[in-house]
Amino acid sequence: MIILVVNAGSSSLKYQLFDMSKELVLAKGLCDRIGINGSFVKHNTHDGRSVVKEIEMKTHKDAIASLMRVLIHEEWGVIKDLSEISAVGHRVVHGGEKFIKSVLIDDEVMKTLEECSELAPLHNPPNITGIKACQQVLEGTPQVAVFDTAFHQTMPKKAYMYALPYEYYEKYKIRKFGFHGTSHKYVSERAAVLLNKPLEELKIVTCHLGNGSSIAAVDGGKVIDTSMGFTPLDGLPMGTRCGTIDPALVTYLMHKEGLSSEEMDYIMNKKSGVLAVSGVSSDFRDLDDAVEQGNERAKLALELFAYHVRKTIGSYAFAMGGLDAVVFTAGIGENNGNIRKMACEGLEFFGISLDDEKNSVRGQEIDVSTEDAKVRVLVIPTNEELAIAKETLKLIS
Ligand code: AMP
Repeated sequence: MIILVVNAGSSSLKYQLFDMSKELVLAKGLCDRIGINGSFVKHNTHDGRSVVKEIEMKTHKDAIASLMRVLIHEEWGVIKDLSEISAVGHRVVHGGEKFIKSVLIDDEVMKTLEECSELAPLHNPPNITGIKACQQVLEGTPQVAVFDTAFHQTMPKKAYMYALPYEYYEKYKIRKFGFHGTSHKYVSERAAVLLNKPLEELKIVTCHLGNGSSIAAVDGGKVIDTSMGFTPLDGLPMGTRCGTIDPALVTYLMHKEGLSSEEMDYIMNKKSGVLAVSGVSSDFRDLDDAVEQGNERAKLALELFAYHVRKTIGSYAFAMGGLDAVVFTAGIGENNGNIRKMACEGLEFFGISLDDEKNSVRGQEIDVSTEDAKVRVLVIPTNEELAIAKETLKLIS
């Protein structure tokens, strides 16, 4: 069974083509600069062929059509005929309260997706454009939507409501939604496999630490709380996002600096986070280099980030009334042993204890705790594309 996974952004479209019988990535790549001069397709195959080709792509439909030509191309192709593609799985950022799991897309679903766009105006419209393009080019092929928000829909009301006038929830759906759900779901399920225990019996804190970062409390396979909120700006400080701050600061700074709401939004999303604290970079590799050269603000940025990770793990352990495992994933979680160490240091009283040698390993599934630790600390590389392909397969089977 061959499944295409599509992640459509406003001017780019990432894809992976899976042979699900072996969970093998046949090809992956991206159509970039859609609707902009110099658009190109970058394509890599499982057997080492690769191509970067300038192709005019004015619309997402052009991009999907170009991608289809590449997939069956004599030289770079990986399938003979497009009819071999059994279904397409689409990453959709926001499913609102309407979608608590992945869905097979029909006209009714498309209508509801359009309604959800208001909640994610930057992300959902390009996701929808990508779906429409695939529907046009691959007519009759089942399309599935897999939502970043869906896994978090099990949160109880006490966790997702904000203490704001209730009418805002009723009028505008102002509540916590949470994001990175596909990743949190994937790594929590992998954790159960690694620990050789049913997911239903486990209390896990999953830490997705990348350029965007979020943490989830997964109790018996169900999310009971997560750190991102109504938008992905909430929670941990991130590469360029401020995360949780005193909400009064927003109006205070707008007043002091004469900022418009758009400017304030831009500052909190693009000019904050570890980039702002360090004054160096949003990338943790650059921060590590800067610390080595004695940069104090870069050191502070790393400490501040790890501190927020640490206290969120602690608060979720309390919220769940116990903790069996902590999972680290995504760019930082998988590769940065130093952040894992800072987040978990001195917690032996709590049953958390890292094995320094194991913790120095990068980017592979590994239990990095000491033999006797009661709480297992796991590194599990996330694979959102495979998770989307699996969901898609499940829905069409
Ligand atoms: P992501 O958004 O998941 O791609 O994560 C991006 C972050 O992960 C950046 O801050 C990178 O510095 C960090 N990262 C990615 N790969 C590595 C690596 N191999 N070693 C250390 N940090 C990495």
